[in-house]
Amino acid sequence: MVPFLTRKEQLKGDTTLQSKPNIPHHRIVFFWLVGLLALGLVLLLGALSLYRDWQQEQQLQTQRRNFYQVQLKEVLETTLRTVELDTVRLATSPLLQRHLLHPSTNTLELLQEDYLSLARLRPSYDQIRLLDVNGHESVRINRSGKDVYRVPADALQNKAQRYYTAEGMKLAPGYTYLSPLDLNIEQNEIEVPFKPMLRMVHPVYRHTQLNGLVVVNYRAEELLQQLSNHLPAPLRPILLNDKGQWLHGGDKQDWLFMFEPQSGLAVEEPSLWQQMASQDFGQLTLGQDCLLYSWTAYGSQQAQSPRWLIGLRESGKACNALTQQYQIHAAGLLGTTALAGFLLLFGWHRLRLKHLQLYHRLLINEQQLRLVTNEMGNGVIMIDTQGLTRWLNPEAERLLGWQEKEILGRCLHDIIHVTAEGENLDREECLTTHAIRTGQRQHRERDYICTREGIIIPVSMTVSPLPKSESGGAVITFSDDREKVTAEKKLRRQAETDELTGYLNRRAILQQLEQVIKTDTEFGIIMFDLDHFKSVNDTYGHAAGDQVLIEYTRLARELLRPHDCVGRIGGEEFLLVIKHLHLNDLYQLAERVRESMDHHRCIITGHTLHVTASFGLAMHQRGEPPSALLARTDKALYQAKNTGRNQVIADDSLKTASVDT
Ligand code: GH3
Ligand code: MG
Ligand code: MG
Repeated sequence: MVPFLTRKEQLKGDTTLQSKPNIPHHRIVFFWLVGLLALGLVLLLGALSLYRDWQQEQQLQTQRRNFYQVQLKEVLETTLRTVELDTVRLATSPLLQRHLLHPSTNTLELLQEDYLSLARLRPSYDQIRLLDVNGHESVRINRSGKDVYRVPADALQNKAQRYYTAEGMKLAPGYTYLSPLDLNIEQNEIEVPFKPMLRMVHPVYRHTQLNGLVVVNYRAEELLQQLSNHLPAPLRPILLNDKGQWLHGGDKQDWLFMFEPQSGLAVEEPSLWQQMASQDFGQLTLGQDCLLYSWTAYGSQQAQSPRWLIGLRESGKACNALTQQYQIHAAGLLGTTALAGFLLLFGWHRLRLKHLQLYHRLLINEQQLRLVTNEMGNGVIMIDTQGLTRWLNPEAERLLGWQEKEILGRCLHDIIHVTAEGENLDREECLTTHAIRTGQRQHRERDYICTREGIIIPVSMTVSPLPKSESGGAVITFSDDREKVTAEKKLRRQAETDELTGYLNRRAILQQLEQVIKTDTEFGIIMFDLDHFKSVNDTYGHAAGDQVLIEYTRLARELLRPHDCVGRIGGEEFLLVIKHLHLNDLYQLAERVRESMDHHRCIITGHTLHVTASFGLAMHQRGEPPSALLARTDKALYQAKNTGRNQVIADDSLKTASVDT
């Protein structure tokens, strides 16, 4: 089991490693990115859908609140209209007109009876009064609990100083005054329990003459209760006066202004109040509550009414807050995404771990391989599946003249592997391509590589493909065969060369002849034999004979072209294979050689020797085997010997053929 190492540790452990094994890492990244993208898309779509639902929910909520808001205004309007109608009726009744025209105890009593019956009918009317033009009470009906009673004449008061009297006296005929809503004050003390009170005042005119006022004190508890009754929980009504003071729905702040004039929403939340005061209607969040409000005044055309801010309050919920249902949905969406994200990351981590383990195993393999190959005398190169160099051992560096870092990642095929002539190798012929494709080990005894300096080195090469399940690629092993090739050449040369004269030996020159017959269309051969050579040996000894042989063969060599072949086919008998010459030129050449020998003098142990040679020659005929050609030439040489020696004789038949052509 390979121990797990972090990538840092792995790289620390092998600072020489330059290349990265070819693991399909990009595939892991690709799948991970696709997963992440899909997850992001799901999250986005989920969030969009939630947002749309939430907006619809908000619209519904606002519509619902608006509906109740209208209801509240309706309740206020209807309730106050009844009070106004009652007040107007009392102030304009024929009974009152009669009383004003002919005041008497009888008419007064009738009035009182009328007021009493109204008071009995309307439990919310606390007082019903008739004031004269001086503000003195003429009739007063009081309520005490469920009972109503007329206040005796001696208990009637003058209300000229009260603000509603002053406002009422200013009213034109037909107009009504509605007082602000506040708590009832008796004997200059706020009555406890609190008694919220409204006063509806209507002037009493006779013709155009003001005769007094009818004042109805309306207990607003009923109104406030009705406002509450029209709202389902958790909605509650709110009511503030135009100074931003709480009348209802402000919890502990309700009616606080009666005791502390500097209190209320306008004081506590001035900016909020400013916003509310500047808009006819609106919605805003106050603390933890949502308020929906609008400005209203009692709407009768001929009424002077204070302005109120009426509305509703939803506790514990900011106006645009997510409801619990949506909070759960959002949490579910986030939770699911987080879980999927976690699974994705977990999968990614597992893959990455596997990848690292594989990578680490490869590193160890490479290190081991490197150690082994460093000890070998062969050059070793590892390539990947694309033929790109992954590393090379020191011997390969030495042979190629490339440093590992210079050649890493480069295509071996393009820069190193060549033909014997140093040209780029066809990929199909390339051993590495073949090995990687077939997965089979390949060996070639003679291959060629090119060094950095452009030197072509003969090598024997083996390519071993690496398992595709690991990283693929191949290991190339090669050995420098330059010395071997030189030795082989030397041996071959030795095997082909005559030791004494340096000419090709008999076997080699005959092979050469066979080769030339196969490739050349026009060529000839010359055969020469030293004359009376036996006597040289006999007279001066064998060594002197050897010396003569060396000198005279050199003379022939000097007159020939480099590609002409010379060979010794017998003791003092030689064969020349001459390419690309016509018969006459061949003859001329033989003649020049003969002359050169004839003119030459060989000095041995103080004796001057003069040796001549006889020459026979023949041109090759198409399709003629070597033996036939040799036989014709030999015949010509024989003829030269027999007709006087030191002469050149061409084969007769050829001479004729040449003349013919
Ligand atoms: P001809 O003119 O008819 O050719 O007469 P010749 O004497 O040259 O011919 P022959 O065949 O009678 O003699 C050839 C001699 O060449 C015999 C042999 O001793 C000598 N010989 C052959 N090879 C060598 C050699 O390697 N070294 C020496 N010194 N002599 C050799
Ligand atoms: Mg001879
Ligand atoms: Mg001979």
